[in-house]
Amino acid sequence: MSSPTVAQLLARRQHALGASYRLFYEEPFAPVRGEGVWLYDKDNTPYLDAYNNVASIGHCNPAVVRAIAEQSAQLNTHTRYLHPSIVDYAEDLLTEFPESLNNLTMTCTGSEANDLALRVARCNSGGTGILVTRWAYHGVTSALAEISPSLATGLPLASHVRLIDAPDSYRRSDFVDSVKAALQDMRNQGIKPAALLVDSIFSSDGVFSPADGELAAAVQCVREAGGLYIADEVQPGFGRTGGQRWGFQRSAVIPDLVTLGKPMGNGHPVAGVVGRSALFDQFGRQQRYFNTYGGNPVSCKAAHAVLRVLREENLQANARDVGDYLKQGLNALAGRHELIGDVRGEGLFIGVELVEDRSAQTPATQATAAVVNGMRQRQVLISATGPDANILKIRPPLVFTREHADLLLERLDATLQALR
Ligand code: PMP
Repeated sequence: MSSPTVAQLLARRQHALGASYRLFYEEPFAPVRGEGVWLYDKDNTPYLDAYNNVASIGHCNPAVVRAIAEQSAQLNTHTRYLHPSIVDYAEDLLTEFPESLNNLTMTCTGSEANDLALRVARCNSGGTGILVTRWAYHGVTSALAEISPSLATGLPLASHVRLIDAPDSYRRSDFVDSVKAALQDMRNQGIKPAALLVDSIFSSDGVFSPADGELAAAVQCVREAGGLYIADEVQPGFGRTGGQRWGFQRSAVIPDLVTLGKPMGNGHPVAGVVGRSALFDQFGRQQRYFNTYGGNPVSCKAAHAVLRVLREENLQANARDVGDYLKQGLNALAGRHELIGDVRGEGLFIGVELVEDRSAQTPATQATAAVVNGMRQRQVLISATGPDANILKIRPPLVFTREHADLLLERLDATLQALR
């Protein structure tokens, strides 16, 4: 049977799938094969992937494919039988964390990891209140949809949730002040805080890095009020930010719980929560946690292969080197294109804010969509983020090289030129 055309597949998809699905790009992209930083359509046209952080060590990485195939052919069960794969992985993964973060519980998705972290935080703090950023995204469950304002404008948030400003270095928000105000509001309403939950790179808010001491000061206030600090590393974790393994390590403050996902299995669904054993002990005394697929041998072998490749190929150092190089190039483009208001980010997690007017900082939402689509037409995949969708999100696999960065810069220059 011949493969369907893009139009045929689109029509069938709209007919068969629920209405909440969304596609990227005005002209939908239909890749059929991936390798390294490249995705190929059915005509074998290569697209440079500068967007997918899940395939962090490269699409279809052979070491991960092999690990999955070999373990699948031998045994795949669950964590109620004794198997070395989860223990081997947990011991090895935990060497990547500060000593106090000494336990791992495995899940299948980042959402399940955040959901579990909230349960552990509530159980240990005795509180219910949660602080998240104004345009946060933390996942798909009911509990997480209530703390993910970026799902839709005007989405009702739960009464125990308070919104704080992301540490916006461009428009200069005051992160610490907004945390203090949210805690005060909780006190006024008789809500006891359970946790501050933040994405360490503030991805959906627009890609921000807290200034020195900012996060530590905010966390201190939360802890004094009895709440925990949960670092959501689903986006920045596993070396992406270049300077450190985990985004939270840019700050001296150590989280109570850390949630992992996306790049952890390079496309295989595996995720988890790392944290202080005392927190899991308290939770475990009260209830059991069994996730049917979480921590199965195949997932553990996939995740372990990812960790090894990350180390063997020094991909964190590459993220720093190529990320810095790419940012330099983007700053050079900003010298020629007025539309670029700000270039920011860490390692290979870069945000390029597009504005209609540099002094008024007016979000250039339409132009940003045009750039994202123009890049797709020029065979480079990126996307947009932020409450006004005016920040280019550049987040390639960590095997991205300077040559790939040059290609992206050349195509971005051409796209911006064509918009004038
Ligand atoms: N946290 C953050 C910061 C995320 O970006 C995402 C996914 N986009 C999640 C959690 C949820 O992960 P998953 O889709 O694997 O459930």
